Amino acid sequence: MANDSLRIVLIGPPGSGKGTQAPNLVKKFGAGHLATGDMLRSQVAKKTELGIKAKKIMDEGGLIPDDTMVNMIESELENNPACKNGFILDGFPRTIPQAEKLDAMLAKKNIPLQKAVELKIDDELLVARITGRLVHPASGRSYHKLFNPPKVAGKDDITGELLIQRSDDNEGALKKRLVNYHKQTEPIVDYYAKTGIWAAVDASQAPKNVWSDVLKYLGQH
Ligand code: AMP
Repeated sequence: MANDSLRIVLIGPPGSGKGTQAPNLVKKFGAGHLATGDMLRSQVAKKTELGIKAKKIMDEGGLIPDDTMVNMIESELENNPACKNGFILDGFPRTIPQAEKLDAMLAKKNIPLQKAVELKIDDELLVARITGRLVHPASGRSYHKLFNPPKVAGKDDITGELLIQRSDDNEGALKKRLVNYHKQTEPIVDYYAKTGIWAAVDASQAPKNVWSDVLKYLGQH
């Protein structure tokens, strides 16, 4: 991986728009999109040993153990050809230990993080976003029944394949995911603020305005 490539982390609660903004970054910078939730869902779909264990935790809105997640990311960084031009981490790190282990791993490879972008939004706005969300499992593309409907109801715009509602996209699991977010993930904002690579973007705006703020922060606007 060249060390002038884009290397960033997207931080934000479920429904804040990480999965909407990441493809914009992929398109503009050609970096690999590593969404740990998508990787785990693919393990669940394949019914691997990890997938079977992860499903229960995910459906309850819990977190997968740190070491499992760190190893997953390390293996992607080493083997995924999409990451040779950098990476966009979406959903990882989610805890301070994950952030520390990521920093140590990247320092060893001499490819430190450049930016940590927080998509900041109030919890009250997330229920409507999450309960109306539809996703295309193979690509991670997401839609919303009201705010961003697919061209044909229930089908992915690009492949025409069926969209699904995630089993953890319900009000009960969301509540737990938000509690975990505030308790375990939000502290990483301070962690990155201390190293000077953090910036917050108002994620309650329309996606195109969020994108333009992200670009501004990356010095591209
Ligand atoms: P997401 O698609 O990012 O909302 O992730 C869905 C679920 O996968 C989360 O609610 C967690 O159960 C699990 N998960 C994803 N990324 C991580 C991570 N970095 N650490 C622990 N659990 C994770």
